[in-house]
Amino acid sequence: MQTKRHILLRDKTSLIPGLLLSCRCGKSVPQAEYKEGLCIDCLATEKCAPYRAEIVRCYRKRLRYEKLGKPTSLKGTDDIAHRNRLRIIKVCQGLTSNAARLEELTNEQGRLAREAVSGSKILLPRR
Ligand SMILES: [Zn+2]
Repeated sequence: MQTKRHILLRDKTSLIPGLLLSCRCGKSVPQAEYKEGLCIDCLATEKCAPYRAEIVRCYRKRLRYEKLGKPTSLKGTDDIAHRNRLRIIKVCQGLTSNAARLEELTNEQGRLAREAVSGSKILLPRR
């Protein structure tokens, strides 16, 4: 399986087959998964931080209103959250052209946002 992947990488120019680069998170990834000195998982987490923060703010506002039983419409807040989710997808699209990886990257950003809302202190990267 590994060998097959390396043959595929050889087709792309400037990629050295089999070369693995290490990220600060401890992972070693192929060149295609490494950008700006980080693995694309770490890069997505870094680049999406301001958008995640906005989503967290919107989620918290919604929770606050729900707790108080306020009937106020939060359409504006929901729109902001939606716009930031789209921005996250756009950032991740810039990092990978692989659909499965794109889904992983965006799901992880969603997970991090939900985790931040619930107040969990666990912020360890996956794998
Ligand atoms: Zn990393």
